[in-house]
Amino acid sequence: MTRDHRRKKAIRAAAAASGRTYLDAANSVNMSTAGPMLAEPLRAKLADAVEAAGWPVEIEHNPLMGALRTYFGPAMFDVARDDSAGPDVFTGDEHPDDPAVFDLQAPLRVLVWAPQIANFADELGRVAGIDGQEIPADGPVAALASAVDRVVGAARHRDVTDTPNNGSCGICADRYPEAALFTPTQAHIRVCPCCAFDGDLVRAVDPSHLAYQLDRAEAESVALPAGWAAVGVLLTCLGGPTLHRRLADDWRAHHTLYEPAEKWADTLRAWTWLPPGPARPAALAHLGSGASMSAIAAAIDRAHPDLRERFRAREDDIVAECLDDEYGDDVRPGEDDRMRVPAQLVDRLWPAVLAYTIAMLTHFPDLGQVVG
Ligand SMILES: [Zn+2]
Repeated sequence: MTRDHRRKKAIRAAAAASGRTYLDAANSVNMSTAGPMLAEPLRAKLADAVEAAGWPVEIEHNPLMGALRTYFGPAMFDVARDDSAGPDVFTGDEHPDDPAVFDLQAPLRVLVWAPQIANFADELGRVAGIDGQEIPADGPVAALASAVDRVVGAARHRDVTDTPNNGSCGICADRYPEAALFTPTQAHIRVCPCCAFDGDLVRAVDPSHLAYQLDRAEAESVALPAGWAAVGVLLTCLGGPTLHRRLADDWRAHHTLYEPAEKWADTLRAWTWLPPGPARPAALAHLGSGASMSAIAAAIDRAHPDLRERFRAREDDIVAECLDDEYGDDVRPGEDDRMRVPAQLVDRLWPAVLAYTIAMLTHFPDLGQVVG
């Protein structure tokens, strides 16, 4: 059914003349007549703008119940057409730009969810985060992207504020929400992110189980302490290129159908909440409420291109000082080379260095006054 027979006829004519599909022809007719706003180009521009704000973005290419979905960090947005413009019953893959299904004169709307899995949180007494919040889609895309980021950041702030610190870390005893403490080892001691690799944990860290807990918590909450992002990045750096496959195999072996997130295959796709205004390094001022390690690394490389070299030089100084303290003039030739951190190891762990710096600044904003 269509509500615009004149337009449908024109699209049919364009499709027949060009040999293109009906939907392709519909898009070209829309553009050439500067007619109604289309969802597909709006989604593309909005996804680009959200990515430019730092979020890792993944596009869902199949329409879902008349909406175009895009995932970013802990959240997702839909570009859809007003409900009243579509069919009474959806079969599943209706496209919001299909004139045979929707009245294309009807306005578009943007809906935001965060976290990606809607979840009633007992500790909050309500659904966590935001559940399909609508944002007017008629402004400039940059303003729309800012609004999308703003509602996600506000949802996190609200959930963090409302979540009681009803648990404590089994190592340092700091207070945390119970749901923000995880068990990195088979000893099942619940710890905070600062203690995830603590030497007092009596059995080795089990990366598969820790990664599983982080993935599930991130999918269901926007209030997770930022420090856990740093733990995840360090796990990915240490796990190397086969980590994602090993996690998938191990999770499947433990009878869960959940798939590990992409970030376990690529450190740069991991993301973290960013420090609030006053605590945020100037290099990250242009980013949104959270950002991928890719965006963070690029911003820091731009602002401080010599940072890694300075880090290495400082490591060398520390080695020299240690040797001097230990051996004085008796230091053996080549000893400093033996103790120096290999350049490849610095490169491999560099994303974790950045993640610990930025995520812990978010976690403990007062640190910003120390770091400067
Ligand atoms: Zn702790």
